[in-house]
Amino acid sequence: MSNKKYKAYTLQNFRTLPQIQNISEEQKFSMEVVGHVFPLKSNNYVVEKLIDWDKVPHDPVFVLTFPQKEMLNFLHFEKMAAALRKGSNKQEILDTSNKIRVELNPHPAGQVDQNVPSLNGQKLKGVQHKYPETVLFFPCQGQTCHAYCSFCFRWPQFVWSNDLKFAGKETEQLIEYVHNHPEITDILITGGDPLFMNTNNLSTYLKALLKTATPNLSTIRIGTKVLGYWPYRFLTDSDADELLALFKEVTLAGKHLAIMAHFNHPRELKTNAVKEAISQILKTGAQIRTQSPLLAHINNDPKIWSEMWNEQVKLGCIPYYMFLVRDTGAQHYFGISLAEAMDIYQKAYRSVSGLSRTVRGPIMSCTPGKVQILGINEIYGEKVFVLQFLQGRNPDWVRRPFFAEYDEKAMWFDDLKPAFGEDKFFFEKNTDNIKFSCADSQKELWKKSFAFS
Ligand SMILES: *Cc1c(COP(=O)(O)O)cnc(C)c1O
Ligand code: SF4
Repeated sequence: MSNKKYKAYTLQNFRTLPQIQNISEEQKFSMEVVGHVFPLKSNNYVVEKLIDWDKVPHDPVFVLTFPQKEMLNFLHFEKMAAALRKGSNKQEILDTSNKIRVELNPHPAGQVDQNVPSLNGQKLKGVQHKYPETVLFFPCQGQTCHAYCSFCFRWPQFVWSNDLKFAGKETEQLIEYVHNHPEITDILITGGDPLFMNTNNLSTYLKALLKTATPNLSTIRIGTKVLGYWPYRFLTDSDADELLALFKEVTLAGKHLAIMAHFNHPRELKTNAVKEAISQILKTGAQIRTQSPLLAHINNDPKIWSEMWNEQVKLGCIPYYMFLVRDTGAQHYFGISLAEAMDIYQKAYRSVSGLSRTVRGPIMSCTPGKVQILGINEIYGEKVFVLQFLQGRNPDWVRRPFFAEYDEKAMWFDDLKPAFGEDKFFFEKNTDNIKFSCADSQKELWKKSFAFS
């Protein structure tokens, strides 16, 4: 395969794309308006190999990386459009963007203040520890991606350069932390996209993890969208071979290397480049598990999911999670109701073989944990959602089915009420029962802000 040169399309240059020329000026302006609030980045692979330009503006992969007018509500859109139309200066435009951004719940599920652990009394930057067995690491060079998903819940870190984003550099501290916490078996390296980093930088982190005596650590996971957005990372990038060799080194060292691949649409699995990249990764002894949110305008159809899971299994990947869209940014545009999500999951799940049924969903990642909708049922005449925790701040909560009143319109956990006239869910009854706490202040915070977010 010839060397593929990466080219990004952003707010500054997307109008130069030949494919964009058929789109109306009004729509281009809309993209610009929304692109001033949410980050805009696509690239030549997405544009040339994934988007079906005959179907634009409704093409799902077009919607995936190019901003859509309805991602902003009417008032926000008009405010931003007015600022651009009257030719405001840079600072005025930025002020307008930022005012809108803070109204879009930029940090759901207590990401910034609740999950940051401490080591020797110091906050560990770039680390989150919410569930006992898995610690999240955000290496600073991996806090961007080869393209930005329009629905991304990490959008604030791409538009605000420093204060609110978490990104760590201190590997030694991370290793000491893992060493001091024998309950940790997994590190999940995440971003952004850690595979945006060059191999050299990634290797510094991984080799440090391998070299140090952390026998409790059995799995290194890498959360990435690079297979979907830039498979050449494993094929023709200048350090592609070194990356594959590094993967092999990890697996030969006896650690399980799990690539947590993010795919939103079956089209991302159809190019020769992605197929070849998957095959190269599997040859290193790593495994690929897949996940995606369920998204209106992109993949809210059971056929899309069954096709995606079948294709993944055929290529040797393991379907893992189906998420619901988080309550941030453009949730009103991409989100679908819990009832519809359950219906899509169930229909897709029923139509695939057991090998695809490793996938668990639909899941909401909320402050108290990962909540899965198990189904909808009627108990003594009351229609209910049956739910369970797949992960909980208190591990005792996991896999205890519980019930919420059925609500056709509910889109997130905080829309739900306990069923059968109860005033609280079981885990809300005693806040002192939170056993696991990585941050000393967590329980206090939890009591203060009991609301789900
Ligand atoms: C999902 C998630 C994990 C990993 O959970 P698994 O069930 O092991 O995949 C770890 N930490 C956080 C904060 C998460 O949201
Ligand atoms: S690849 Fe992941 S982190 Fe990057 S923009 Fe998409 S959803 Fe967000």
